[in-house]
Order: sequence, then C-alpha cells, then structure tokens
Amino acid sequence: MDPNEIRYAVVGHPIGHTMSPFIHMRLFALNHRRERYGVLDVPPEELEQSMDRLSRLCGCNITIPHKQAIIPYLDAVEEKAACFGSVNTVKSENGVLTGYTTDGTGFRRALQAAGEKPEGRVVILGAGGAARAMAFEAALCGARITVAARPHSLPAAQQLCKDLMGKIPGTAAGFCALDEITDGIDLLANATPVGMYPRSEECPVSEEVVRSAGCVFDAVYNPNETLLLRLARKNGVKAVSGMSMLVWQAAAAQEIWYGAEFTESDIARLCGDAVLEMKKKFGNVILCGFMGCGKTTVGKIVAEKTGRAFVDMDRVIERNEGMTVAEIFAKSGEQRFRELEREAAAALGREHGLVIAAGGGTLLNRENAASLKGNGVVILLDASLSAIRTRLADDTSRPLLARPDRDAAMQRLFAERIKAYRDAADTAVPADGAPETVAEQVFSFIRPAVLP
Ligand code: NAP
Repeated sequence: MDPNEIRYAVVGHPIGHTMSPFIHMRLFALNHRRERYGVLDVPPEELEQSMDRLSRLCGCNITIPHKQAIIPYLDAVEEKAACFGSVNTVKSENGVLTGYTTDGTGFRRALQAAGEKPEGRVVILGAGGAARAMAFEAALCGARITVAARPHSLPAAQQLCKDLMGKIPGTAAGFCALDEITDGIDLLANATPVGMYPRSEECPVSEEVVRSAGCVFDAVYNPNETLLLRLARKNGVKAVSGMSMLVWQAAAAQEIWYGAEFTESDIARLCGDAVLEMKKKFGNVILCGFMGCGKTTVGKIVAEKTGRAFVDMDRVIERNEGMTVAEIFAKSGEQRFRELEREAAAALGREHGLVIAAGGGTLLNRENAASLKGNGVVILLDASLSAIRTRLADDTSRPLLARPDRDAAMQRLFAERIKAYRDAADTAVPADGAPETVAEQVFSFIRPAVLP
C-alpha cells in the first residue's frame, strides 16, 4: 500500500499483532466507504516527529505505548479523554488534531450488546491502561468501583481510585489485593493480561470469585474464550468477551471520524469474523477428516506455501511413545491411544503458526476440539467415501481397518464420523481432487482476508 494514500491508520509500538486494519476496513465497508487504513509502527522516541505525518491523515487510532504520551502533542482533547487521561482516537481536521477516547465506550457497548450494564458493584482486575478506561466508564455510569491488583501494584490501584473520586464527583471507589476480593459483585471485569495466549490456562481470580459475580467481562481477546470466561459459563454466570470491546471501540472511533452508524447485528457478525481472522493470522491451521482424505499430503503443501511448520498429530504421538499407532493399539488398546491424543491436542493447542494434520478420531472428542479450536481454524478435507476407498485400497497400516469386514467397517466409521467433523470444522473444502487443488482451496480460506 502506498503510504501516501493512507487516510487512516493505527499508531503504536510494537504493532505486528494488530487487528485494527481488518476491523476498520470492515467497518468502513459497512458504511459503503472505500478507504485505505495503514499500520504505523512508531517507537516512543519518534512520536513527536511523527505528529506532522499524523496531521496529514483524516484520523488515527492510538495504541500502546502512546495513549498518554500523545496528549501534549494534540491541539485539543475532548472532555472524556481529558477526564480519563488517555487518548485512543485522533481526528484531524485541516491539520488540527483532536484527541478522544473510545475504550470505555467499547467496554460499555460490549456489555450493552450482551444485555448488561456496568452498574452496581464493579470489580476491575488490574490497574493499567484498560483498567483505567473501564473503571472511568463504569464510574460515569454510577457504579461503585473496586480496583483489585497484585500487591506491588496496590499504589497504582489506589491512585486510580483517587483519580476516579477526584474527577467524577460522587464516585465510590476502593482497592484491594487480587486474593482479597469479597463477594457481592455485579460485574467482574478483567483488565489484566492474565489468560492471554500463550498462557491461556491462567485465570486472574479463583472460581469462587467468578461464581459470586452477576456477570464477567474479559478485556483479553486472544483467545476469545479465556479460562475466566469458561469458568463463568460453567457456573451459569454471563460471560462477555474482549473482542466485542475491541470492535465497539473501533466503531465509536469511526462515528467520531465521519459520523458512521452501525447496527448491533452488524457488529456481532464482525466480532465473529474478527475472532476467525485472528485465529487464521496468529493461530494454527488444523486439517481434519477421515483417514485417507489427504491431511498429511495437503498439509505439507499448505505448510510449504505459507512458510509454516507442518505437524502430523499421529507422528507426534508415535515419537512421544517410541511406537507406531498400530503398536500402541495392539499393546495398550484404543483408550490409551485416545489419552495420548488428548495430551497431544492440548500441547499443540498452545502452539501457534503450525499446520496440523489431526488424527482421524481427534476432533470427535469435544475436549480435543476445544483445545485445538481455541487457537486455530479447523478445515475439513471433505473427501467422498469412494475416493477414500480407492486411496486406501492397498493400505494395511490402519488399526481400525485391520479386520475381515474392512469395507463395511470403513463405511460404518465414515458415516459415524463425518457429522462430527462437519460440526467441529470452521469450513470444509472438497477433497476428492489432486492434493495441489485441495491445498489451493485451503490456502484461499486462510490467506489474509481480501479487504474491500
Ligand atoms: P497494562 O497497562 O500493562 O496493564 C496491565 C495491568 O494488569 C497492570 O495493572 C498489571 O499490574 C496487571 N497485571 C499484569 N500481569 C498480571 C498478572 N500476572 N497478575 C495480575 N495482574 C497482572 O495493559 P493494558 O493496556 O491495560 O491491557 C491489559 C489487557 O487488556 C491486555 O490483555 C490487553 O490486550 C487487553 N485490552 C483489551 C482491549 C479491548 O478492546 N478488548 C483494550 C485494551 C486492552 P502489574 O504491575 O501487577 O503487572
């Protein structure tokens, strides 16, 4: 993209993992606007000299580490941004730069879209930038705030409470350590990075605290379904994901730039698409399907084409056990193999940037599907039974087919499994053709979205 043609951009450092171009281009498209949106990696020491460049844009989004640092370089700061002490959106009109904040709006609207409000007793976990925006927004809505932080961050939590009470008269705000949160919580909102990929098996508070909340919000959006949110759902507590905040704050920025309008259903659809896009860009590509559908051959082609590493789950298990799959079945039985498969799925789910050929039975297990799908897109190689029969005609290595009624067994197994594959997959590609043709279709699905 010619940098001179960019009219909008996200400005931050480091900025490699940003979802902003995808989200903003989709938001522009919803308003029938053809715009160019760029990514400007600006280290802190170059912010001042970048201001001239920013004033030639129509608008930009400001992210870490510039949300406070940019304030002195702006011509004006809107009331709410001045109150929050943070700017995440800049509008440029005739070279005059005005700063706004939409993080709090994104938080409030994400809750609103889920039928919730930041009201009553709101416990904010963390005392950093996101915590500040969420606490201020909740205080503006009249909530009583508790800021919970790690012991060494209690001074920051105390300062945030002082700012809240000083800037929003009548606000009740207190702070405590993360392990001293008392019950009676209307909204529990995580504003720490705990639970973020790759440490997605961590949760900032105990299950008991989660259970005592009326609603749980998590600012973390990678993964979309954090352990905190999973615990909330498990305990019947409403759970709202950070992707919704990310998309709503971007929508609010476009409202500021040019008066954009969005419906809740458009934003809900975009949130789902953004989660999928995030997994395509930063997660794994998992190929599933019946034995003989071409997962290994196609997977290797896709890996080579995309510069990703290829992993065959069955080979991982064989390497770990020092035995072939057939030997594991013969020696320890199918149940033991399924245990090993679960371990392999959990371990691979913590990786990223891989092309994974899942075992034929892997995705039939919900736990395996959750481990792999949490951080990846699942693509079914949808080969017909007749194509599979032809491909496996001379294959004697599959334990499940090593029986006299091989043909009938294959037909039965195929019928049992195909629905589960379809349910688990994000998409299916026809897989009766040549491996190169199938790989091309997989590639079309995973390549970065073609933006309007
Ligand atoms: P930040 O300014 O660095 O603040 C992080 C806060 O979390 C600090 O108070 C930090 O305190 C605390 N923290 C860090 N590690 C912790 C741990 N292991 N246990 C307990 N507390 C811990 O970061 P931020 O910009 O506020 O971002 C926080 C999270 O929100 C990130 O995951 C970010 O991606 C997400 N976020 C989401 C959105 C959205 O739109 N969904 C917007 C902004 C941010 P310590 O001093 O104790 O480390």
